[in-house]
Amino acid sequence: HTAKQQRCGFSHFAAGHAPDTAARLTLLGDLRRALDADEITLYYQPKIDTRSGALAGVEALARWQHPSKGPISPAQFIPVLEATSLIHRFTDQALTLALRQTSAWLDAGYRIPVAVNISTRSLLDSAFPDRIAALLHRTGVPGDLLCIEVTEHAMMSDPDTATTVLHRIRELGVRSSIDDYGTGYSSMAYLKALPVDELKIDQSFVKDMTRDHSNLALVRSAIDLGHNLGLTVVAEGVEDAATLAALHAIGCDLAQGYHLARPMSPAALTGTLHGQPARSADTTPVSGTDV
Ligand code: C2E
Ligand code: MG
Ligand code: MG
Ligand code: MG
Repeated sequence: HTAKQQRCGFSHFAAGHAPDTAARLTLLGDLRRALDADEITLYYQPKIDTRSGALAGVEALARWQHPSKGPISPAQFIPVLEATSLIHRFTDQALTLALRQTSAWLDAGYRIPVAVNISTRSLLDSAFPDRIAALLHRTGVPGDLLCIEVTEHAMMSDPDTATTVLHRIRELGVRSSIDDYGTGYSSMAYLKALPVDELKIDQSFVKDMTRDHSNLALVRSAIDLGHNLGLTVVAEGVEDAATLAALHAIGCDLAQGYHLARPMSPAALTGTLHGQPARSADTTPVSGTDV
């Protein structure tokens, strides 16, 4: 079995396949080392205003370039981290990197709100709001430049604790967003009570909304629901011009997706701010000058 695993190598962690126990243990050891070596970096994907085309903010997305296995998707390694308390160290590192980058952009004259994905376990940790406060203080970034993205699923795993934590985070001026909306099971009562600012419609509904009428109907009703609750609505996974036009027509505030920009290194993103064309940098190794 072990020999087979070694032969399979990277394919073990291919998207859609949860690594088995032995592979998870190996991965966990590698992750522990990667966290010590600052091997995990953040790429940034723009969120764009559908009306003006202006940059409304960026989402930080974790990237791990494994020394021998190559790039490993966050969809693979975040769940492995989440099974242990290492997730807290990772969350701290991700927030620190994102806030340092935000601070560097501020120094360069760019005020760019940054969104960081927060896993269930970190969100529900009672020390989490104090950690955010400490990191904001240390980096000097105003709270309103930070947004935390929490999946609908994570919010609904313990809605009462989530609500308490989100209220404390809001006191810091930090914004919050319901990620992957439509894939969880939020009740209307909880949605109404959650102190959030943004709703992100999951890409599975957005991707083919111009071809699939039921998806279009779902996106439309999510936009209406979000607006009726006073939230900014974001569509993720916008892959073509027709989808962007449709989203604009039905009043979606922000859009994110490969059609607009890929996740990119801080240097590549800064390049787009100077009016240079956005490069697809998702597969380019991060340069040593970042952060
Ligand atoms: P997410 O937060 O829903 O992020 C959106 C994912 O969709 C990202 O994948 C992004 O690269 C991808 N994407 C963006 N535009 C398009 C598009 O037009 N088409 C398609 N097909 N995909 C698009 P990524 O970077 O692989 O991240 C996957 C998930 O991993 C994220 O989903 C998030 O749940 C999690 N994740 C990423 N970074 C972090 C992190 O720092 N902390 C935590 N806790 N989770 C993270
Ligand atoms: Mg997200
Ligand atoms: Mg999402
Ligand atoms: Mg997602």
